[in-house]
Amino acid sequence: MNPPSPFETDVIVLGAGAAGLMCALTTGGRGRSVVVLERAERPGKKILVSGGGRCNFTNLHATADNYLSDQPDFCRSALARYTPQDFVALVEAHGVAYHEKKLGQLFCDGSSREIVELLMAECRDARVHVLTGHDAQAVTRAEDGAWTVDTARGRFRAASLVVAAGGVSWPKLGGSDVAYRLARQFGLRIVPPRPGLVPLTFGGETLDLCAELSGVALPCARPAQGTRAFHENLLFTHRGLSGPAVLQISSYLPPGDTQAEVTFDLLPDAPPDEDWLADAHRRGQEAHLASVLSERLPTRVAQAFARPLGNARPLRQYSPRALAALERRLRRWTLRPGGTEGYPKAEVTLGGIDTRDLHGKTMQARQVPGLFFIGEAVDVTGQLGGFNFQWAWASGHAAGEAV
Ligand SMILES: Cc1cc2nc3c(=O)[nH]c(=O)nc-3n(C[C@H](O)[C@H](O)[C@H](O)COP(=O)(O)OP(=O)(O)OC[C@H]3O[C@@H](n4cnc5c(N)ncnc54)[C@H](O)[C@@H]3O)c2cc1C
Repeated sequence: MNPPSPFETDVIVLGAGAAGLMCALTTGGRGRSVVVLERAERPGKKILVSGGGRCNFTNLHATADNYLSDQPDFCRSALARYTPQDFVALVEAHGVAYHEKKLGQLFCDGSSREIVELLMAECRDARVHVLTGHDAQAVTRAEDGAWTVDTARGRFRAASLVVAAGGVSWPKLGGSDVAYRLARQFGLRIVPPRPGLVPLTFGGETLDLCAELSGVALPCARPAQGTRAFHENLLFTHRGLSGPAVLQISSYLPPGDTQAEVTFDLLPDAPPDEDWLADAHRRGQEAHLASVLSERLPTRVAQAFARPLGNARPLRQYSPRALAALERRLRRWTLRPGGTEGYPKAEVTLGGIDTRDLHGKTMQARQVPGLFFIGEAVDVTGQLGGFNFQWAWASGHAAGEAV
């Protein structure tokens, strides 16, 4: 559709992702006229691929503690006013079947498409115009405060502009830096963006090991001394490590610190005070080291970790010290990542619009009335597990109530 140009509404929302659609349906539901400009040919592309096609659409336990931000308290207000239960109520009202996979993570039973369909149905009911194939190319603000957005397919004017253009991760799915550029244009500060929830890459011997074990997954935990607990899977890849445990830890690596280390406990279910291998040695185990290790580790991992000690001997022939050292290594496998797989593989972008320049209750820019930023574009980033969508819904709703 090419609407009349200029097309005048109360509100322009820039981006038809999770945050933009939630904002649009909320403000449209209040009787405001809204147009959503989306440069892709369809709305909600990230929703469609999320959660392996089943969209982990929220997390029942979401609190501010699940988010990274330079201002950790900023997200509290929006999260408190639109909770996981609010989104669940919407999902249930549309008859979308869902289940809790684990740890409060809610997924569709069927397909992520159902989440996009419910958001679009709500937008239709609220008479929101969602215009795909509309790339916002230039934004200006008139002296009376009105906003003009130019696209190749026409000009749009409104009293308020909500920027919901996401972060720069996964450019193939719409990631762009337009939110940051607009923030700078209107004087807001930016917390330097960086890839989050991203696979880690390694060099040298660690890379050789990862490549050899590529495709193998195993449960691991962060050792007790770590600041954030997790107990999730680690996946070996041709370039390094991935899987939920690694994605989670990647967001907490200090930016730019090439000496930063990550530590994994590869025996997360073993009692911490147990001396597993030393005890087996004392019992005079006849089994070979690799086969003893494979009682608790995938066979290929067991073989790879036993190899430096020579894995084809009965356990009783090893020195207790060497076995204790191996067990320590498995419980505290410490590595120094060479880097990450970067934005093309990062589920989220950390950093973004500096929250010191936004009102937490409304998401409006403190110094620019009528300008709002929501969703991943803002310096609020969730852990893995449905927290990022919950932030998109909550921040979109906060702006939608205010705009
Ligand atoms: C592979 C993958 C899986 C994920 N799985 C999950 C999950 O299961 N659970 C979870 O909570 N989170 C998940 N995430 C994270 C989650 O998808 C994002 O945090 C969330 O989509 C952010 O929503 P948003 O609306 O802020 O931004 P986006 O969803 O990125 O939407 C921004 C929109 O703005 C549009 N846009 C950009 N520039 C312009 C422009 N110039 N003009 C017009 N439109 C523009 C884009 O095309 C896009 O549609 C996943 C992310 C990825 C990449």
